[in-house]
Order: sequence, then C-alpha cells, then structure tokens
Amino acid sequence: MLKGSFPIKEFEGLRTPFYYYDMALLRSTLDTIKDIFRDNPNYRMHYAVKANNNPRILRTIASYGFGADCVSGGEIRAAVDAGFKPSHIVFAGVGKSDEEINLGLDLGIARFNVESAAELLVIDELAGKKGIVAPISLRVNPDIGAHTHANITTGLAENKFGINYEQLPGVLKLTLGLNNVKFLGIHYHIGSQILEMDDFAALCNRANFVTEKIVRAGVDPGDINVGGGLGIDYHHPNHLDIADFKSYFDTFRRFLQTRPGQLVHFELGRSLVAPCGSLISRVLYVKEGTSRKFAIIDGSMTELIRPALYKAYHRVENISSDEPEEIYDVVGPVCESSDVFAKGVSLDKCHRGDFIAIRSAGAYGESMASGYNCHPLPGSFFNE
Ligand SMILES: *Cc1c(COP(=O)(O)O)cnc(C)c1O
Repeated sequence: MLKGSFPIKEFEGLRTPFYYYDMALLRSTLDTIKDIFRDNPNYRMHYAVKANNNPRILRTIASYGFGADCVSGGEIRAAVDAGFKPSHIVFAGVGKSDEEINLGLDLGIARFNVESAAELLVIDELAGKKGIVAPISLRVNPDIGAHTHANITTGLAENKFGINYEQLPGVLKLTLGLNNVKFLGIHYHIGSQILEMDDFAALCNRANFVTEKIVRAGVDPGDINVGGGLGIDYHHPNHLDIADFKSYFDTFRRFLQTRPGQLVHFELGRSLVAPCGSLISRVLYVKEGTSRKFAIIDGSMTELIRPALYKAYHRVENISSDEPEEIYDVVGPVCESSDVFAKGVSLDKCHRGDFIAIRSAGAYGESMASGYNCHPLPGSFFNE
C-alpha cells in the first residue's frame, strides 16, 4: 500500500496519540502562495487561525509576512503571541463579545468583519468610549450554496453568518451615519472544503455586483475580502499534497473585477495546513468480530473529531507493517458509536503496537481536540 514517509524510529519513545507535522511541506505550501502573490501585488493573505492554532505552526505562517483571520479574542492573542502584527489581523464572527471587541480596539487590529447591524452599533459605542474610530468591513451573505457538507456551508441565506444580501443597503447607510466606525470594505466567506471553482466564480460575480451597487450609490467600496474555503484532496495525500492554489487564484484573477489600487484579501485555513498534519496513534488491540475485524487504536474523536462531526474522510495507513493488506474498521476507545475513523478499509496487517497515521489532519484536528473522557490533549512532533 502506498504510504507517506514518516521517521518512525523517532516515534518510539513518544506518547501516542500525537500530531505529526511535516514542516517542509508547510513551507513549500506557503512558498507556492508567496510566488503567486508576487505577480498579484494587490492580494493579501490572512491565515484562518481556527484551522490550526499550534504556536509553532502560527509562527511559521507569521514568518511569511501573512496576516491572520481570527474568530475570537483568544485567537487574536494567539496570533499576536506568534508574531502576527495587529495591523495584519482581521476579526470575524457572529457573536463578538464586548471584551473581545475592546481587545481588538486596544490592539489596533486591521478590521472588524461585522456580521449584523446590532454588532455594528455595539462596536460604534465601544470605539466611541475610547475616542477612536473602528475600521470595519461588512460581511455579506451572498446566498451562494457551495457544493460541500451541509454543516460547513456558510454562504446561504438561511445560515447564521453575515448580513443578508438584501439588507446590505440599509446596513451600509447605517454604517456611514455612525461616527466611530469607518466603512472600509466588504467581506464574504461561502464555506469550506470547496473543490468546485464554479462556486468561487459565482462568489466573484456576486461580489462584482455588490461593488457596482456601492459605487453607484456614490460610496467608496473599499477593499474586498473573499474569505477562505479552498478544499484539499483527502483521498490522495501521497499524490496531491498541495492544494490547487493555481486554479483557485486564477479563478479570482479571471472573474473578480477590481478597481485600481483595490486590495483583495484571502482567508485560507484548511488548504494551508491540512496536508502537512497526520494524527499518529498506536494499535492497542486487533479484535475479531463476527463479520468484521476492528483495529482499536489509542487515537480517538477527542484528538480528531472531523469523522464523528462531519463524517469526514481521512486516509488511514499502517506505517509500521508491510504484511499483506486486510480489511479493518479503525476505531478509537471513546464511549461513543461515532468514534470511528474508517470502516472496511484495507490496511497492511495490523499488530498491537503498530503506528497508524491518519492523514491530512493538519486542519481542524489539533485545534478541535477536547478533553472528553478525561483524555489529555495530544502532543505534537515537528519534522523540520
Ligand atoms: C473558517 C473561516 C475561514 C477559513 O476557512 P477554510 O475553509 O479553512 O479555508 C475563513 N474565513 C472565515 C470568516 C472563517 O470563518
């Protein structure tokens, strides 16, 4: 079976499960983006911190000069600690608390991506108390359905995110009438794990229309933030280990109309960090059921919840064995029937103690780990 290459000897003394990060792959991913941006000087990257907030991952991304997209005060702090400049931090989220807004104001972050009229009024009030003007973009819900899992679609009118497309003129008018906020642009984010470039083309068309309407109303449209959402190939981590950034950015180059000097912000998360991470576990037991065989591993939904939460697929590899393949259900020890990583998959014959790699787990893996069942949080191993 085709497998990733891992420094297994170095894993011997480590407590499993842990996250393994291929830092060379992360750097070549970041280099790819940097190269594309060299030809597009009006593009800006804000890494979506929620995908992976491991300090070492954050520091590596910050060292490329990219900004950060945060969805909480905790993420803003983590980003600043890792070396992201506050002036390169944007802050989104439907439920920003007063404390979080004040933190953003005090640090002087680049932008509040505002998701409702109610939030706008609070930001105006809190900024007014400090005698400052808050830089804001309005997050518009473009009512575009991305072809992805229902739980990770964010751009439909029925989602909780953003300001309804029809309500934008009213909220824009409200913004322009307030003293302590400054309108600087429009923000979009239509979902995650999107592989259809047509979805991004549809976003561009909608954004062009919105910009035109704002300009026609005599208002400076500011910049455009198109959010994140580019997907990766979870099925072939050994063939396609870098996301299709070329098609993605080509789509925006082709379809998004920009005015001279207008900046375009991107907020990619998953596509930057998913491929470089794997969850490494050990086989605890091989259990023969009546009709199937279980590989019971020490990794579980508390370290990687995506399969349980979204029925997400991750490729599973036995990286210790090279005996002929057998068919297994790969399950964790947690007392939930959904604590299953894969059903009926071929793995090189499993033995107690074998290392199992669950691939493409660098995004929404470690950052979503919990302490359920009193499991300790997973450690991490960086292969420089
Ligand atoms: C989660 C999120 C992103 C990143 O999404 P990916 O699918 O990981 O690229 C970007 N922007 C906002 C506002 C988000 O909430």
